Amino acid sequence: MTSAKSPIFDNSYAKQAERFFSPQAPSTVPAPALIRINTALAAELGIDPQWLASPEGIATMAGNHIPDGAEPIATVYAGHQFGGWNPQLGDGRAVLLGELIGKNGTRYDWQLKGSGRTPYSRGGDGKSPIGPVLREYILCEAMAALKVPTTRALGAVSSGEMVFRDQALPGAVFSRVAQSHIRVGTMQFFASRRDTEALQELSDYLIQRHFPDAAQASNPVVAMLDEIIARQAALIAKWQSIGFIHGVMNTDNMLLCGETIDYGPCAFMDSYDPATVFSSIDHNGRYAYGNQPGIAHWNLAQLAQALLAILDNSPDANEDSAVALAQHALDAFPELFLKAYQDIIKDKLGLSRFTEQDDTLYQDLLKLMEAEKADFTLCFRRLAELADEGACINNSVRELFEFNDSFTPWLQQWRQRLTEDTQTAAERQAHMFKANPVFIPRNHLVQEAITAAERNNDLSVFNQLVDVLKTPHTFDPAKQRYALPAKPNERVLQTFC
Ligand code: AMP
Ligand code: MG
Ligand code: MG
Repeated sequence: MTSAKSPIFDNSYAKQAERFFSPQAPSTVPAPALIRINTALAAELGIDPQWLASPEGIATMAGNHIPDGAEPIATVYAGHQFGGWNPQLGDGRAVLLGELIGKNGTRYDWQLKGSGRTPYSRGGDGKSPIGPVLREYILCEAMAALKVPTTRALGAVSSGEMVFRDQALPGAVFSRVAQSHIRVGTMQFFASRRDTEALQELSDYLIQRHFPDAAQASNPVVAMLDEIIARQAALIAKWQSIGFIHGVMNTDNMLLCGETIDYGPCAFMDSYDPATVFSSIDHNGRYAYGNQPGIAHWNLAQLAQALLAILDNSPDANEDSAVALAQHALDAFPELFLKAYQDIIKDKLGLSRFTEQDDTLYQDLLKLMEAEKADFTLCFRRLAELADEGACINNSVRELFEFNDSFTPWLQQWRQRLTEDTQTAAERQAHMFKANPVFIPRNHLVQEAITAAERNNDLSVFNQLVDVLKTPHTFDPAKQRYALPAKPNERVLQTFC
């Protein structure tokens, strides 16, 4: 007998109107086996890590056991996929098991992904091969360590059954944690049905759960929209600053709580090029690295449009006045994004203030990086080392990356600029190391981990990678291979959902 305690659920979404979801138990699987659990996250969520690793916890993550208090549901949404409208989507391969209140008082969803068919599966099997599960685990935990708002990995289990894609692959179920799974597409679903009552109920719910300050505003829905826009601006700025390419920024993959979700075909950029695309399904480069801020703005416009019916709460409200409110809120995005982005770039360049001339300096660096096909991550990391050269003599990425002669004039300008800055070299470097990670989940490393698991049932490569990515800002020469860009023969140029 184990003394491990099962978690205490406190579900709120399942108590909303019935048209928000369908009750849906996960499918059972033949032979669940643990891939990994996230002990630290479990503790933050008030889940006893011992319970999670116990047969009952593993059975729960596999969908074979429904703990007391869980009320599994599949939620409904719609969305624009690659710009085309799809009126009916939903959790087609996931169920929301229930909600937990974390140690910090925040409410979290625990979702099982790859847990079988639901009313929203359309032609799909509702399952997931192990590859996408490992990819999501690696990527979302790396993003968390990089301090990017993100859904999290609570754990993953293999199912003991094969999943059929273009080949038979071992199946797995992923335990995803999010502050909530409500998407731009959730609002769009109700707006497209002209269900104003549901829009209002969902907004009230969101305000209570994520935007309590908006409740005090004279127009709470507008205040909520403003805050959603601000969070997305901050989020996309972080993505851009680390070279993260989401790959499938459909409106159903944008969470209103502001966390990154849906690690399908995502990847990190190696050498700098704004046109970089990895996703095999992004034929026109709609979701290329350089397009992400514009796409986020477009998605937010779809959200504002969906909210039109409830946006103006004044007595003389009409369609024009609602459109004006939406437009005003949306017009803030470019400036909010730029400010958030420049705030990070300032740290990446080692400055305490970012001026207009600094923007020119930065754009010049990007142009050079593009022309030289310089590795985005290592370039900034090396710059951080140069900020206080003596300080990291045995601990340098110099062997992995060094600026070539074409950077010399730029480096001179940068050093000149630093003389006008008030920080000491040591302070500057400390800030720069925090802003310029050295370990990112490079595509070839992610692929290597997936291949080892798929072909040889070997999880050690995956586990080591997850461990290295927990401390992305601390270089250790012993982990050098994880900092290196792919060699030509290792390069992975395409990612798949
Ligand atoms: P995504 O591209 O991951 O955002 O998924 C788009 C939609 O397709 C969502 O409604 C998913 O639930 C659904 N979907 C994706 N894969 C499957 C699958 N294997 N079985 C059922 N539904 C799926
Ligand atoms: Mg999705
Ligand atoms: Mg996906």
